Amino acid sequence: MADFTSHKPGAAAPAPHELTDAQVLQLELQELQTVIASELDPLALTRLHRDAAYVAMDLGDPTLAMTHAVTGLDLARSLGDLGVRARAHVTVALVMLDVYDDLGAWEHFREADALASAAGEARDVALVAVNASHYELERGRDREATLRLLDLLDSPFARGLALPGVSAPHTLEASFHINLVKAAARGTRLGLLDAAQVARAAGPLKASVAALRAYREHPDRLPGLRWRPEVLDSLTEWEWSQGNHAAANRLADERVQLSEESGSPHVLGRALLDRSLLRGALGHDADAFQDAARAVDAFQDAGQDLLVTQAMQAQADARARLGEYREAFGVQRALTRQLETLYRAYFQQGAQLRQIERQVSEAEVRAAAFAEAALRDPLTGAPNRTAAMQRLEQLQERANLGQPSALALLDIDHFKRVNDRYGHATGDAVLSRVVQILTAEIREQDCLARFGGEEFLLILAGTPFPVARQVCDRLCRALAGHDWSDVEPDLHVTASFGLASLQAGRDLRLVLKAADSAMYEAKAAGRNTVREAPEH
Ligand code: GH3
Ligand code: MG
Ligand code: MG
Repeated sequence: MADFTSHKPGAAAPAPHELTDAQVLQLELQELQTVIASELDPLALTRLHRDAAYVAMDLGDPTLAMTHAVTGLDLARSLGDLGVRARAHVTVALVMLDVYDDLGAWEHFREADALASAAGEARDVALVAVNASHYELERGRDREATLRLLDLLDSPFARGLALPGVSAPHTLEASFHINLVKAAARGTRLGLLDAAQVARAAGPLKASVAALRAYREHPDRLPGLRWRPEVLDSLTEWEWSQGNHAAANRLADERVQLSEESGSPHVLGRALLDRSLLRGALGHDADAFQDAARAVDAFQDAGQDLLVTQAMQAQADARARLGEYREAFGVQRALTRQLETLYRAYFQQGAQLRQIERQVSEAEVRAAAFAEAALRDPLTGAPNRTAAMQRLEQLQERANLGQPSALALLDIDHFKRVNDRYGHATGDAVLSRVVQILTAEIREQDCLARFGGEEFLLILAGTPFPVARQVCDRLCRALAGHDWSDVEPDLHVTASFGLASLQAGRDLRLVLKAADSAMYEAKAAGRNTVREAPEH
């Protein structure tokens, strides 16, 4: 498509009817990439990368699709919005499904579901369920798809299916009905659902069939034409499962006709293949053979190799039923060879995508390390002020529930003199050592944070005030009694402590202020001592 890739954005595009589908997609992708190059907002970028991934998939370029999907996921992570992250995982899953890496896709769906549920985002939970059920349907896992959709319906997230007040994107709701009818009807017909599951599905199935019939009568209620063949497909399954073969045949014919008009060989191929299976099951083998043969051509046009083999299989089956065993055998043999080649190709592609995907997990580890680093003081490794404030807020909540904690501000005495006498490097070493000494003296659930300079905040979780006082006295003595001779021969380090308590209904800032005043009292009292804030 060299002609089209050289089109500058904004240049007059050729009239759409002169373009092939692939050329239109190529243009679309190019436009997206131009926008991506200049977009700075990470939220907008995640959407753009997701769109680019889908276009690249339609173009049959899973590697490019994966790169966009992964970049989107990386950005989504940096945003910290669970719903956005969930959607990014769905995109990665769909790209993996495209090359039949079902296991990889499954993991991303699970991740997406967990994130969306944790965020309480009904829309995203519904999105994951509907997408995952679509893929289960594709793989013939009708029972799993049915149960997944019924579970969604029984959950509080079911409201995510409808968008109140928004008329355009009915797509999720429509997909839900399409998938449920197809999964439950076909699953019932093939005996994949047990009696209890059939009974459980009955009510929702009826409602979804009614919705699909309404869509069929009022196609304008559906956004975009591409839904109509799907609606007909599910309704065909429904009639078939009910033993209404004439009605099923009529719907299948209507779908083929509609698909012929769509101009998409993929859509047409699927309609023909499905009608071939229906006709074969009803004993119309010659018609079944014809449909399968046309489906092979259509899928070849669409470049969809795996579907070509499925249509060839249907062709061979019909031939065998017609008694043309020699021909059936010939098709079957070609099929085996083709499947082998395909399997190898998919395997390689899957491995390639996994490699790209691995960068995602590495990015995740990096992101976690960054998040961790953001809460630590780089010099001493102690939690920093941000971490301390987070911890204090948690403990304030616990205090409000009746479990008080204690905190102490401590400031190293005459620290300026340490710097002046021994140099800044020794000053740094002293700060690190002070953290080591004091941290070794406190429990896991307590925290010694560097609050700034040579000032630290000691947080004693769930500790009653008199006990906290004893702890501070002990820490004060431990510091004063420490042997510093390995740092400097005549070095002595002490600190002054101001102790306050965290109790129900107190303002955290005032508590810190009280601790600070108490600490200055300790300084005034000659340093190397502990003072308590009043009113604890
Ligand atoms: P006081 O007993 O009244 O607290 O006296 P002080 O000397 O400890 O207090 P002052 O606030 O006058 O000085 C604190 C010094 O701590 C000044 C500053 O240069 C030093 N300081 C702050 N952060 C660091 C650091 O990261 N490394 C080193 N080496 N020194 C630091
Ligand atoms: Mg100070
Ligand atoms: Mg000081």
